[in-house]
Amino acid sequence: MKVYNNILETIGNTPLVRINKLTKSIDATVLAKVETTNPGNSAKDRMAVKMVDEAEKKGLIQPGGTIIEGTSGNTGMGLALVAIIRGYKLICVLSDKQSKEKMDILRAVGAEVVVCPTNVEPDDPRSYYSVSKRLATETPNSWYVNQYDNLANRDAHYESTGPEIWEQTDGKITHFVVGVGTGGTISGVGKYLKEKNPDVKIIGIDTYGSVFKKYHETGFFDENEIYPYITEGIGEDILPKNVDFDVIDHFEKVTDKDAAIYTRKLALEEGIFVGNSAGSAIKGILQMKDMFKKDDVVVVLFHDHGSRYVGKMFNDEWMRERGFLEEGHKSADDLLEN
Ligand code: PMP
Repeated sequence: MKVYNNILETIGNTPLVRINKLTKSIDATVLAKVETTNPGNSAKDRMAVKMVDEAEKKGLIQPGGTIIEGTSGNTGMGLALVAIIRGYKLICVLSDKQSKEKMDILRAVGAEVVVCPTNVEPDDPRSYYSVSKRLATETPNSWYVNQYDNLANRDAHYESTGPEIWEQTDGKITHFVVGVGTGGTISGVGKYLKEKNPDVKIIGIDTYGSVFKKYHETGFFDENEIYPYITEGIGEDILPKNVDFDVIDHFEKVTDKDAAIYTRKLALEEGIFVGNSAGSAIKGILQMKDMFKKDDVVVVLFHDHGSRYVGKMFNDEWMRERGFLEEGHKSADDLLEN
């Protein structure tokens, strides 16, 4: 019998899929590592298991204990699966800009969800960073995951995502492009790929309203770069320990509107139904197209599934309210190339 002993064993070995239409203006081959086939429908399953494995090894969490995390939803989903299989409770602290779908999904897999305001300073007691930390001190037998600074996050991608991409491209990858939030994905994959071939370029996708690009280019943490934005899962107002700026060659910023439109285009033109940060990443590649040559192999990682955004980017009314669908565009079908 070919069986998995539990759902956690199905994490990883995600497909690499050619992008055919959306990137036809680019000479290089563009391939997408589509992480939606993980059981929690996102790349974050990988690091959720690794972080819990390490905590167990270090004795930070005991049987029946409570896992606490501030999460935009995808990490929470991964942690929820681990909690169910290993017998822990889970509390997820979310900011109120996260989609309702993400909150409902977390509750469906047994997590307790605590919602905090988005537009407060990280050290404000109401912020989701502060609330997570407070709950961790108040709850007996609990462990605060802290995906931002917990380096098991990037180790998971060094150990699994990086090697998968290297093997799937027969070592031909020349560029790796991915949205950056905690930095775990880019830093783990980037470190692995650069050890294999130091010429591989590692490119982070950032949002307007986030500190990463400017910090990378100037070494200056500029608070003026911080303002509210819509794109989910990427960009930060802090510098997480998981971001290894040394392995990153370039950051590209993409607007909320472009990220939303290109998320729709990925579904409509490639049949790849993925989340908002994937649209951001593919638009970033198009913005950088002069960087790529004919024989280049560009791998872009798509973090999560489109179903989490059906009330947002995939909803025409939501798009129109934010000016993301122009007058005269009746639906996103009008966004098709040519
Ligand atoms: N996209 C989505 C949808 C995410 O949830 C995340 C995680 N915050 C990212 C991209 C960025 O990944 P990482 O945290 O590994 O930088």
